[in-house]
Amino acid sequence: MSYAVAPAETRSMVALVAPLSGQLVPIEQVPDPVFAQKMVGDGVSIDPTSQTLLAPCDGEVIQLHPSNHAVTVKTPDGLEVLMHIGLDTVTLRGEGFVPRVRVGDRVRVGDPLINFDADFVATHARSLLTQIVITNSDRVVKFEPRLGTVVGGQDIALDLALGDVSEDGTVIGGVTVASEPIVIPNPTGLHARPSAVLSTLAKKYKSDIRLKYGDKSANARSVIGLMGMSVGNGATVQLEASGPDAEAAIAELSEALRTGLGEEGAKPVAVAASIEQPEISKPAPRPRSEDPNVILGVAASPGVAVGYLRRVQQQEITVSEHGGAPNEERRKLEQAIAKASQDVEALRAKVHGQGDPKKSAIFAAHQEILDDPELMDTAASAIDKGKSAAYAWKQTYTSQAEMLSKLDNALLAERANDLRDVGDRVLRILTGVTAEVVTYPEHTILVAEDLTPSDMATLDPTKIAGFCTVAGGATSHVSILARAMDIPSMAGTEPRVLELPEGTPAILDGSKGRLRLNPSTEEMERTQQRIARVKERRQRELATAFEPAITTDGHRIEVVANISNAEEGAKSVKFGGEGVGLLRSELVFMERDSAPDEDEQTAIYSAAARALEGRPLIIRTLDVGGDKPLPYLPIPHEENPFLGERGIRLGFDRPEILRTQFRAILRASEAGKVRIMFPMIARLEEWHMAKQMLEEERQSLGVAPIEAGIMVEVPSTAVMAEQFAREVDFFSVGTNDLTQYTLAMDRGHPKLAPYADALSPGVLGLIGMAARAANKYGKWCGVCGGVAGDPQAVPILIGLGVKELSVSAPTIPSVKAQIRTLSLADCQRLAEQALAADTAEAVRELVPLTED
Ligand code: PEP
Ligand code: MG
Repeated sequence: MSYAVAPAETRSMVALVAPLSGQLVPIEQVPDPVFAQKMVGDGVSIDPTSQTLLAPCDGEVIQLHPSNHAVTVKTPDGLEVLMHIGLDTVTLRGEGFVPRVRVGDRVRVGDPLINFDADFVATHARSLLTQIVITNSDRVVKFEPRLGTVVGGQDIALDLALGDVSEDGTVIGGVTVASEPIVIPNPTGLHARPSAVLSTLAKKYKSDIRLKYGDKSANARSVIGLMGMSVGNGATVQLEASGPDAEAAIAELSEALRTGLGEEGAKPVAVAASIEQPEISKPAPRPRSEDPNVILGVAASPGVAVGYLRRVQQQEITVSEHGGAPNEERRKLEQAIAKASQDVEALRAKVHGQGDPKKSAIFAAHQEILDDPELMDTAASAIDKGKSAAYAWKQTYTSQAEMLSKLDNALLAERANDLRDVGDRVLRILTGVTAEVVTYPEHTILVAEDLTPSDMATLDPTKIAGFCTVAGGATSHVSILARAMDIPSMAGTEPRVLELPEGTPAILDGSKGRLRLNPSTEEMERTQQRIARVKERRQRELATAFEPAITTDGHRIEVVANISNAEEGAKSVKFGGEGVGLLRSELVFMERDSAPDEDEQTAIYSAAARALEGRPLIIRTLDVGGDKPLPYLPIPHEENPFLGERGIRLGFDRPEILRTQFRAILRASEAGKVRIMFPMIARLEEWHMAKQMLEEERQSLGVAPIEAGIMVEVPSTAVMAEQFAREVDFFSVGTNDLTQYTLAMDRGHPKLAPYADALSPGVLGLIGMAARAANKYGKWCGVCGGVAGDPQAVPILIGLGVKELSVSAPTIPSVKAQIRTLSLADCQRLAEQALAADTAEAVRELVPLTED
């Protein structure tokens, strides 16, 4: 139930004049989903007959794309009018466009903005259709595009009705609707995850939506604002929305809130049964030790470290308080946030490549913080009062982080650390102050109030034996990273650790959350010996790393590496790698502003081939999309990116990119034993299309054919493995994706991660189908997903008929050593049992892990 509390507000009208002469086309008919689905904003399109783009309104030029094909003018009402000449014209890199204005110029309606060569653009780009869209469409209550032909600079192309605007910039036209009181059923209140769910839902609506709790109120789009209200389990809140879709927003959001925003254990509660000011999840009491030589904390990353304590000094970035013109300062901040966002995305793509969904989820959370409207709004209002962008930003994130950390809620305190990290990242971009790289001596146990995920990225794991932080807990992002980096650590450590003298000898047990101070030399030695035993095993494995991996009954399994560049290829050879089963070529395309051209790609792939000194190299073609976006290759927003234009599908949509890559791979085949592999093949037709394009490029280059295979990572492909096996040269099973698609569990979902196990009998069944079909047709089947290096999976995969395991380079020696202890016959029996098992857990019980 909801009720309207106010009638429609008064509206003002804005008319945009046609920026070009030509025929008006409804935006929905533009053959590009980015525009047709109004992902950039609502508006209208023109099929132009003139060649000078004119200002459709008075205003200020606030953005001119570096390729000069798009420009944004901000009207005095604050509307941002983007004009985008042609489709896919960014690929022309400025050719055919001459800008007539610069960012910051004030323009009057009809002033020239960009001249363009219509013949050149029409013949070199997909279309000349020019879009006029409002990028901050939530300010607009109604769009009324005109129809027919228009004369540029004279006729109206688009009428807009504006709603009134609230203090934080959201539209309050339409009606204001409030929900009934709602009791929060989430066991730990509105912590980060439910807040993120609520804010995602709120972003679907144009209306201003606020959550009210007592005398506090927050923008429902802001995760930080929501978390900052510290709404606990059983608290009574109310939603209020003002705008054109207020009614629908309240209906959906209040139901979602009432039922716990998808959180487990959240049972809807009637208002009468609620307690007004309930307890919110308090941090677990910090463990304390009575023994002066023992400091306790929370076990964060397992393993034992012996070393000497060193304090981490936090670097303070100084900023000047006063700034230039508010517009300029705001733009600086927006650009810094955009750059930080790109960097975080690149980091996310990088850790995705390492196949660790938990690490990837950390950077997804950072992205969420960067997108938070509350941060930008608060900083912008300080800028408007004359503060510099850096000062305003620093004040905003430090005070918000401070507020979160004081809320006496463990989860929120951990998110405060993420906020500081992300805030620092933006501040460094704004000030140009780069992170200091501090070097520590060997056997260092770092002691810090807190560390951020970015600090972790600069740690040298050969010097840092372990670390303890006073802040954080086992689920802090830093702890997750420590586990991924295999560095023992503890969090939530007793604060007295910060007062200990530099160089205090200590033994850190990350599995128990215990720091033993001033141990006897004997104790330190004993512990070192234990650590050394593990190391010795590692060395034994390394010593035999160059020998083949042959089972006790004489079957050879190839053990190869997953890499992203020539350097890693060379490293894999040193670990006894017998080639490369997967070069993730998308990593070649990431962390840059534009796609590498054919020559550059040829050089990169050739270098990788040469690094392998004659060993085979499988290059997988570009696998972007899903959770691996490329900043310069915009993919329209998708509801389900993992089920969208990902992998080879994107290549078919942008054939010029795929063909360029094919040519580069074919040319690189002259430098070594190069094979090609297509990602995300789901249908036989896709294999045919890719193969045909490859063949066309091969013939035009006149080079010898190369072996071509496919990733088996979509269930349909495994089920149709027989049909594929007749045609392809090889299969490589991508268990990371095959698991997510088989179990319908997002590979990056932090909550589902424990269940998304590639050893689930269902996934194993599909791997078995692929391997059987390959063997039947005289082809081979490998596995390149993360499970290929899992000691509990190795015997089962071999038993299923897998002939190649592609793993991270450092894992190669242990996988080879393990294979030498196995017999194929035993593995086959084991695989049969695994296929018949009921659960992934039962499968894992079939292969107990050995000590050390
Ligand atoms: C996989 O899906 O298992 C795989 C190896 O590919 P990626 O992890 O790059 O998606
Ligand atoms: Mg994959």
